[in-house]
Amino acid sequence: MRHSYAWRNFIRKPITDFLMKRTVSIPVNLPSERFLPLMNECSEIFNAHIDWALANRTYNKNKAHKELYHLLRLQHPCVPSALVQTIRDNALEAIKATKFKRIPRKKPTSALRYDKRTMTLRGQQLTLSCIGKRVAIILNVPDYFKEIFETWDFCAATLTYSKPSKQFWVRLVFETDDPPKQEEGKVLGIDRGLYHIVSTSNGQFFSGSNVRANQRRYLYNRKKLQQKGTRSAKRRLKAMSGREKRFMRDCNHCISKKLAALNDVKTYVLEDLSGIRNQRRNKKVNKWISSWSFYQLEQFLTYKAEAKGKQVGYVDARYTSQKCSRCKQRHSTNRHKSRFHCKTCGFKAHADINAATNIKDDYILSTAPSESVEQATVNSPYVSTSFSG
Ligand SMILES: [Zn+2]
Repeated sequence: MRHSYAWRNFIRKPITDFLMKRTVSIPVNLPSERFLPLMNECSEIFNAHIDWALANRTYNKNKAHKELYHLLRLQHPCVPSALVQTIRDNALEAIKATKFKRIPRKKPTSALRYDKRTMTLRGQQLTLSCIGKRVAIILNVPDYFKEIFETWDFCAATLTYSKPSKQFWVRLVFETDDPPKQEEGKVLGIDRGLYHIVSTSNGQFFSGSNVRANQRRYLYNRKKLQQKGTRSAKRRLKAMSGREKRFMRDCNHCISKKLAALNDVKTYVLEDLSGIRNQRRNKKVNKWISSWSFYQLEQFLTYKAEAKGKQVGYVDARYTSQKCSRCKQRHSTNRHKSRFHCKTCGFKAHADINAATNIKDDYILSTAPSESVEQATVNSPYVSTSFSG
């Protein structure tokens, strides 16, 4: 997995017309002396079902129940019967999905899936089946997720355990067949950059309060440590990169929240940075803060906007910063650092705002009925369909 845990949860998922799903992961304190043996026994029950399915070349749940249930209850008397049934369903669905080609296996601390038979959620209190009595925990739901938590349907939970940090996590899945309605509103072009994290087509800049000072400090410290090259320097470098990431993550959360909260905006348009060749991208994203931060902002903005019934669109990233947003002529010399000055029509603007305006215009052109696109510019825009929900 390329991404750290922190935003693995927000990787976009295909969204059907009828069901929208969203997940959140929350760290929880559970008695490990009860849950670790449970996870271990559950993995054994899971693997027993897999072995049975392979030996009998079937994933029929009723047959599996008849042949295995009583045996497994005898072998694992402490595991609640509802949990055995949930694991049976999970195991047989896993083998069905792989069509016997791959053998799904669980390790002693593999994730454990709960469903409506084995857990209940009342308010913020989650109750989980366990060895012996059920265990109730109070969930600390992050602010950004509260609206979904309170209004969508809760459908599943997965319990995971991180060995290095000795921490349990629950990953909760919520769904709705009634996604928030599309709000009436405008299109906002968004240019992502290093100086201002976000510049918008309506002339606003967003950057964390002391992002730039922090960035400079990190860059400086990093250079010094890299020059040193000792083992302790390497260790500190690694710890610092975690700090940088957390800092940028906070900035990205904060900015995407502000953007998603803009009431009159219905569509946010970003440059599709995945489409440009590496060389070009490096020109745009060439400092310590590599493309992950841009991508993370994209992820955060997408789920926050979607939760409000808004959408995120994309345009081709080429030339957005060289083109004049008034006359649409392109000169490579139009831009000088943060100043944009058009050689053709004399238009002057902040370079990032000019780019954001182009991003917005490209998107509007790309979504307009085809007859009105006759004056499409060199920068032929397009809309990513992966976000239509
Ligand atoms: Zn111009």
